[in-house]
Amino acid sequence: MGNDRYDAVVVGAGPAGSSAALKMAENDLSVALIERGKEPGSKNMFGGNIYRKPTAKIIPAFWEEAPLERPLVTDELWMMDKTSAFKVGFTGLEFKKAPYNKFSAIRSQFDKWFAQQAVNEGAHLLTNSLATDLVYHKTGLLNKKVDGIKLDTGEVIYANVVVLAEGANAILTKKAGLRGDLEASSMTLYVKEELALPAKKIEERFKLEPGEGATIGIIGYPTAGVVGKGGIWTNKESLSLIVGGYLNQINNKGLNPYQMLYHFKNHPLIKRLIEGAKPIAYKSHIIPKGGYENIPQLYDDGILVIGDAAMMVSGRRGTDLAMITGLYAAETVAQARAAQDFSAKLLKGYHKRVMNSFFMKNIKKSKSAKKYYKQHPDSDFLIAKAVNDAAYDFFRVQLKSNKEKMNDIQKELLNMQPLKKTITDLYYGWKDWGVF
Ligand SMILES: Cc1cc2nc3c(=O)[nH]c(=O)nc-3n(C[C@H](O)[C@H](O)[C@H](O)COP(=O)(O)OP(=O)(O)OC[C@H]3O[C@@H](n4cnc5c(N)ncnc54)[C@H](O)[C@@H]3O)c2cc1C
Repeated sequence: MGNDRYDAVVVGAGPAGSSAALKMAENDLSVALIERGKEPGSKNMFGGNIYRKPTAKIIPAFWEEAPLERPLVTDELWMMDKTSAFKVGFTGLEFKKAPYNKFSAIRSQFDKWFAQQAVNEGAHLLTNSLATDLVYHKTGLLNKKVDGIKLDTGEVIYANVVVLAEGANAILTKKAGLRGDLEASSMTLYVKEELALPAKKIEERFKLEPGEGATIGIIGYPTAGVVGKGGIWTNKESLSLIVGGYLNQINNKGLNPYQMLYHFKNHPLIKRLIEGAKPIAYKSHIIPKGGYENIPQLYDDGILVIGDAAMMVSGRRGTDLAMITGLYAAETVAQARAAQDFSAKLLKGYHKRVMNSFFMKNIKKSKSAKKYYKQHPDSDFLIAKAVNDAAYDFFRVQLKSNKEKMNDIQKELLNMQPLKKTITDLYYGWKDWGVF
């Protein structure tokens, strides 16, 4: 690859890896960015939201150049049952103007552009290259330090620090002994279909003006009884649909992702949004949902772990935490180079920053939600059903007094499950849905 030894080699050109590579290159560090895909983004997918504030920490005013779809002005949560949906949401036209709030995007385009920014700053991008192993350098009788990576071609790339930004599967993180096996209950599996639809139709159906976007998170019906979500994002001339949930529950119910997508797309309220739209892309992907207790060891001698590989996901937020951990890693490697010390002792600075971050507070808090869903896998489904039954009764015109009507609704809710359970389902749902 030209250089005998890099300051850093980054494995994976997703949001985490490209942020780390860009920030290190800006600091005049020599960086190799290794991507197994044909191009950065070719293997990646999300719903999804690119959040303005965190992304601007990596590239200020990125929206002026990045391939984004629509600024999102409408954000809704639908609790869905067979023939109905109870909706909460917000439309804010301030979000249509710079500096914006968040954008819909398509990862094959966004990731490619993002990695190119790192290349423009001097990072050396190598695509079609799978990192298969780590190489070590002995530092004592019993000690060794990570000293680079090995590619599937057999080529070795040496670096003072290896930054693992390899995403959810995190195979090298495991090989490095930084994490153990992950249970299926610590992962969610999602499928995504992108459907082409003319801009005018999108705007009519989602009540948008040209240049405005909407996103809808949906629980209950779409996931066929699994704790998870459906979601829709409006792009310029397409819609992104996702659906999925906890992998152990999908397996236990004998479902497959394609069935879930079919089920979701055939709901009468979804059908009318996607009518006439043509499928143009289909992908599936894991989201690491292990939470705080499954965060791997984030550093060791000569190595750091960032992004999804480090389990940095909170609610619907993942790309931004990937970028921020990339930024923290880059700053730590710059300090290490200045001190010419690439030991775990110095690299621990990265761990400290992650643990003291605003997002770690959220990740820690979601610990109890994960436990709750393990015990009550039906809670999303039940809450959506309860809310829709109650809404039908509330809106249905009856030959009853208002008091009788409210008493009947209350009775029906109590018949389904104890009130305390419904309130607890709602509480954990609100914590976990991460819609807004
Ligand atoms: C359905 C779905 C919806 C989502 N919606 C949102 C959303 O709306 N907003 C949000 O912020 N987040 C969302 N996320 C989460 C978000 O996509 C991830 O958190 C984010 O992509 C993590 O970035 P990363 O760089 O750590 O990993 P990735 O994006 O997975 O990138 C890892 C990269 O490493 C490469 N790679 C892996 N192993 C190797 C190897 N051995 N050698 C070379 N290259 C390798 C991969 O090809 C890939 O390019 C969603 C995820 C899914 C699945």
